[in-house]
Amino acid sequence: MFANVIVDISNDAVDRVFDYVALDDTKVGMRVKVPFAGRTVLGYVIGLSEHTDFDENKIKPIIKNLESVPKIKPEILQLCLFLAKHFFLRLSDCIKLVIPSCVRLDNQHEMTEYDLTLLLDIDTAINLIGKRAKNQLALVATLNEQGSIKYQKAIEIFGRVSVNTLIEKGIILKNAYRKNRYQYDNSDVKIQKNILTPAQKNAVNTIQNQNETFLLQGVTGSGKTEVYMTIIENCIKDNKTAIMLVPEISLTPQMMDRFNSRFPNDVAVLHSGLSEGERFDEWERIFNGQAHVVLGARSAVFAPIENLGVIIIDEEHDSSYVSESNPRFITHDVAIFRARFNSCPLILGSATPSIDSFYKAEKGEYKLVKLPERINGLEMPKIEIIDMLNEVMDGNTSPFSRKLLSKLDDCIKRGKQAILFINRRGFASFVMCRECGYRAKCDDCEVSLVYHKEDNELKCHFCGKRYRALTNCPNCNSTNIKYGALGTERVVNELKNIFPNVPIYRMDNDTTRRKDGHKKILEEFSTHSPSILVGTQMIAKGHDYPNVSFVGILDADVSLYNSDYKSNERTFQLVTQVAGRAGRKTNDGYVVLQTYAPKHYVYRFAMNYDYNGFYEKEINLRQTTGFPPFSTILRILVTSVSDNKAIEVTKKIFDKANELKTKYGKSIIFLQAMPSPVKRIQTKYRYQILTRFVPDDKITSDFYNIADIIEKDVSIFVEVNPNNLR
Ligand code: ADP
Ligand code: ZN
Ligand code: ZN
Repeated sequence: MFANVIVDISNDAVDRVFDYVALDDTKVGMRVKVPFAGRTVLGYVIGLSEHTDFDENKIKPIIKNLESVPKIKPEILQLCLFLAKHFFLRLSDCIKLVIPSCVRLDNQHEMTEYDLTLLLDIDTAINLIGKRAKNQLALVATLNEQGSIKYQKAIEIFGRVSVNTLIEKGIILKNAYRKNRYQYDNSDVKIQKNILTPAQKNAVNTIQNQNETFLLQGVTGSGKTEVYMTIIENCIKDNKTAIMLVPEISLTPQMMDRFNSRFPNDVAVLHSGLSEGERFDEWERIFNGQAHVVLGARSAVFAPIENLGVIIIDEEHDSSYVSESNPRFITHDVAIFRARFNSCPLILGSATPSIDSFYKAEKGEYKLVKLPERINGLEMPKIEIIDMLNEVMDGNTSPFSRKLLSKLDDCIKRGKQAILFINRRGFASFVMCRECGYRAKCDDCEVSLVYHKEDNELKCHFCGKRYRALTNCPNCNSTNIKYGALGTERVVNELKNIFPNVPIYRMDNDTTRRKDGHKKILEEFSTHSPSILVGTQMIAKGHDYPNVSFVGILDADVSLYNSDYKSNERTFQLVTQVAGRAGRKTNDGYVVLQTYAPKHYVYRFAMNYDYNGFYEKEINLRQTTGFPPFSTILRILVTSVSDNKAIEVTKKIFDKANELKTKYGKSIIFLQAMPSPVKRIQTKYRYQILTRFVPDDKITSDFYNIADIIEKDVSIFVEVNPNNLR
């Protein structure tokens, strides 16, 4: 028997199947050790066959099978083949996506814990021990009361000698069991199950057991999560399993609570916040069938769970579902593959579906299901738009409009909570010299440094490098320093002056870096009322706090002028999501949106919660200008520490791209080579070839091919419909 093996080397020259002589118990999906070019390397068996196309006499045997139960299950292996083809990836890279390194590379192991139980009845035990062994007597008494005790704990309390003597005498038993390093403490959280509204029932009945993709569009607070949980519950009753994806689970501890309370001991989580050991244990729990529900961020879509009854992508419009690093994949496509493989429904849920998904629903590729109203008939909070130019003209140069302050003040006086959103962290977005125009920039990246007052430092938000704050200009020595647009830190500072007695919390990348950082801040916020939460977009995601009645959007224009084709869509989503945090249990929600472009159609539609109106306008615009979904945008990014090399390689690829333009003619709408919007990141110069063409797999594949060259000290990265260009 021959084994078809992929070797674990990321290199195009070896991206093919090699044959080896299989060992007796070699199975498809196993990790193996094989000889390769004079070395021993890790490999994955993707097939077994009686015949080989190679010279049988030259084929070497597998050195060793690394497991008895294959780590790659049949469905996951099929998924890898799909990924390779669909996203133009190397098979070895696909395997890296589906099996985390802690499992793949054997650098984590299961941990065993022991506990002790009583083997004999208590009287017999006491007789056997004798009166003088006080510690032994105390231990058996404890066991008689509690049933069991952890081995380590018993040693701490009663001493190693006593414990071991009792084990040797056969009075107590030492039991081994597998320890799970991931512990989610919510034993005290009990969340009641709601009786579904007619709209929710209709959604459940329409979706359940259907082998189709559904777009569940429900306004914020319409009870989507309740629909997901009911469908999952029904799946479990049917002996099936579920995957539920959220943009970033560590941001939404409430979701963890709701799931753990509804499915106790049956939820496994997979996300970037886990330690390697925790990830290993959770992955194995899924692999071994011990958890029926997987809750996690985008990579949880690869979870080795069998017999899926539903896959859910919550907040489906969120940009985190498109991975930005290599190997690049789009979560929706992976989920569709798995849902069809398991003949189960895929639910894409959102209050503000992506234009792309809604277009597919319009064309019938997805089935649209709606939850048009908030639970209990609550109204959507009123959104008022404030023209900040008027404020400036009237002499108000503070970050807060008069209306915002009066509404905030009113909210606080009523003992309620407020959320203020500003999509910039730090104190000021840049620092520059008023005399000579000098602007502080990162040494390694072509970007302005951000001032952080708390640490009194300048930080690069691209590479994390830190610099001393400026007291005078390094260029002309002037002390006349200008601070740029405000961020979360400065908002908190100013609020403290206005509301000295109100608790104010800040949630952004700086305050949440430590483990469970989000959870702690949100816990604090939720237990104080009145209080104010200031934060970046991480406060927009899915939080459900009943006491929040006021939301202020300080500078909505930040994302509007991001100058890529998705900026309108993203701004509409952001405004709707942030506004959706207000008035979730009472009818007093109010939102103030500050902007310098009060007439922009994005805001006009957002203030009326008019998704359909916005969609119509946007899809027409995309059609007339030839942007996705009516075209594919593809970018080839070339980076190198050597500026010349990067330019040289870009030119080389661009020449070939021009040949494609000749070949495909009008189908290629746009093609240009240029420096990237951010010209240098982490010492690497960046150039891009940007193209737009009528959607066609053949053209996509040709562009991948011309970019598929290996050049020393140069990286080449292809992105399709990238979320942001920088
Ligand atoms: P969404 O996910 O659409 O934002 P949620 O599922 O979080 O909405 O529901 C919003 C709030 O309404 C939550 O506090 C939830 O517990 C509550 N809720 C959901 N469904 C019901 C129901 N059928 N009856 C009563 N309350 C409900
Ligand atoms: Zn200066
Ligand atoms: Zn930098």
